[in-house]
Amino acid sequence: MSSTTPHVLDSFTEVFFEDLFMAEGDTSASEVQLAAVAELKDAALTQDRTGPIVELFAELARIHGEQGLTPEQLGLTREELVTLADKHAKLDEHGVTVGGRVGKALPIVAEAKSRITDYLERHAVEAPSGIEAWERIQENQARIKRVLGMTDEDWNSYSGQLRHAVEDVDALASIIDLPAKAVEEVRRVTQTYRMRLTPYYASLILPNRSNDPVLLQAVPTAEMIDNAGVEIPPVAADHSPARLIDQFYPRVVTIKATNMCAMYCTHCLRIAHIGAKDRIYSKEAYGEALDYIRGNPEIRDVLVTGGDAFVLPNSMLEWLLGELDSIEHVRMKRLGTRIPVTTPQRVDGALLDILEASNERKPVRVVTQINTAQEITPVSKAAFKAISGRVMAVMNQAVLLKGINDTKVKMWKLCETIQESYVRPYYVFNCSYRNPQFTHLRVPVATGQEIIESMYGNISGDAIPRYIATAGGKIPLHKTNLLGRKDGNLRMQKPWNEERVMYPDADPGEYARQDFGFARYRVDTEK
Ligand code: SF4
Repeated sequence: MSSTTPHVLDSFTEVFFEDLFMAEGDTSASEVQLAAVAELKDAALTQDRTGPIVELFAELARIHGEQGLTPEQLGLTREELVTLADKHAKLDEHGVTVGGRVGKALPIVAEAKSRITDYLERHAVEAPSGIEAWERIQENQARIKRVLGMTDEDWNSYSGQLRHAVEDVDALASIIDLPAKAVEEVRRVTQTYRMRLTPYYASLILPNRSNDPVLLQAVPTAEMIDNAGVEIPPVAADHSPARLIDQFYPRVVTIKATNMCAMYCTHCLRIAHIGAKDRIYSKEAYGEALDYIRGNPEIRDVLVTGGDAFVLPNSMLEWLLGELDSIEHVRMKRLGTRIPVTTPQRVDGALLDILEASNERKPVRVVTQINTAQEITPVSKAAFKAISGRVMAVMNQAVLLKGINDTKVKMWKLCETIQESYVRPYYVFNCSYRNPQFTHLRVPVATGQEIIESMYGNISGDAIPRYIATAGGKIPLHKTNLLGRKDGNLRMQKPWNEERVMYPDADPGEYARQDFGFARYRVDTEK
């Protein structure tokens, strides 16, 4: 376009110019300002790039906003600016105008950035991932190996990790620093509830934090027996139509294939089924479960869980997946496991080959449970990467737990960290009301809603999990499913059949208490 051709500005640039040329106040530009603007103008005129033009206009807008100076007072004519605006629109592949970019897009981006500043400033301290804390974890590992007399071979093998698993409080106290009162309370509670941490998982506990999120998940506290209330078994007889089978939905069933786990969680929904005694199930039991699936042709998706599906020996896992693959109407399988988090040494070539072979026949998804970014280390990340390369998807089902992931910063960090570790955030469960053993870890439904809703527009859409209450099936805690509230109970509606249920919310007084878990025994020296 020649310099005599009239330029037509788009509406964004018209508005932007109107604002820029509106004189405000009677200050004048300093020599320094004039020189700086002249330099920007020269770069904008001589370079065939949009960047210098944007820089010039952004600087003009900044000075105008702060001092009310017009471009003319800074040594630029309107015609020069129109020429530069025209040059910008021509250079940009999508014809974005300088008014759109500087007047609209950059302020929108600045506002968006301001929404995450707080998170970016706090996450590494408030919710360090196991990758960020790796140096401290490695120091823990060296100490634990030495105390437990483990060789490198022991440490790096699944069998070595299980052989040296920490199952009593004296062994625990020898590898992590626990106040004497806490040791006595753990001794008392472990007479009723089982404790087992693999040495690897114990190494993730960071020192000097009374309620470390890994410690809280793995080591039972006295509240498990002292909390008031009566346990309501989560999966009662009325949801088990056949041996080893649970069924809530027409096309999905669960096979509870084992009652064993590599570690036992203090918030376990299946606390009634696991823990007391490891049990190997008979082939007859599996046979009856498979017969039920064979006899119900509407079933298309089978979840193999436990306990933990990866506790099954390879030969058993291979056989079970093969049997499921041979049933024509079974189209998908899921495996529920926390082992890549608690004992990633289990994930070796033989296991990966079994997963891949079954996935080749029909899709396999691995469903795991990671509750805090601290559980993701370079080792567990490598395990998840390897699994995700062999199956259809690896998905996470977190549980919302007080002190572990019940803030925006902690939950955002969890979801972003697992996504970067090849795991898709899938569900966040409100911690069950059925077990008094973990009342002290429950979080009010509304707190979870605020946390999950804070993610929209701020982190990647596929890093945002669905927030779920388990109340005879999984009820999404969207506002449309919540009908009301009475006496601390939420009235909810199952979206699939409109059945109404009462869901006891977390007790607000209990949630406000800060002296829970191990915080009752010592004061933090590190936050
Ligand atoms: S791994 Fe799962 S089944 Fe096992 S104790 Fe933890 S929550 Fe329960």
